[in-house]
Amino acid sequence: MSQRQDALRDQLVVVRTEESDLERELKKAEGDVDQVRARSDRDQKRLDAGQVSSPKELEGLQHEIATLARRQGDLEEIVLDVMERLESAQSRGAELTAQQAAATAEATDLTAARDTATAEIDAEVEVLTAQRATQVSGIDDGLVTLYEKIRAQQGGVGAAELKQRRCGGCRLELNNVEIGRLRDAPEDEVLRCEECRRILVRTAESGL
Ligand SMILES: [Zn+2]
Repeated sequence: MSQRQDALRDQLVVVRTEESDLERELKKAEGDVDQVRARSDRDQKRLDAGQVSSPKELEGLQHEIATLARRQGDLEEIVLDVMERLESAQSRGAELTAQQAAATAEATDLTAARDTATAEIDAEVEVLTAQRATQVSGIDDGLVTLYEKIRAQQGGVGAAELKQRRCGGCRLELNNVEIGRLRDAPEDEVLRCEECRRILVRTAESGL
């Protein structure tokens, strides 16, 4: 999973927690409104039924109804505020979920591209391995063994082209004495660089 996917998952956890906190808060605020409304309804019914006769009690009841109405108004404000915050958290959650889906799709594409590249490289290695086997089969065993030994010692390059008097392996220019010796060597002699010991391959551009 990528860093971006990790970050999105963490952000989503925070938003989802916020959402469930706000849902709980909303439920409580709505419950508070219901309680106040029920008490106010009960008071109003008593008033309407004419059950209260004493002026003092009547005044007290009317006062309570007015107080409950203000309280209900305040609580409804709280409900609206919590609802707004919840909606905002929900839309942030939806946005993060969309981003997460996009990141997952991108990761899937990258994995597919990597797998394709790996398969191509494997196929190329297979072709080269087969080619090498064919080429090696025509070469003297002792020479192949020598080549492999030097290759292991010299960072993967066992033979180098001798070009314009320079060894293609270590890039050193050969001196006149050495050039003379190589010039006089029989065609089938395996030549080696004095410096790096790699096998030297003679070509028309060797400068001999
Ligand atoms: Zn060399």
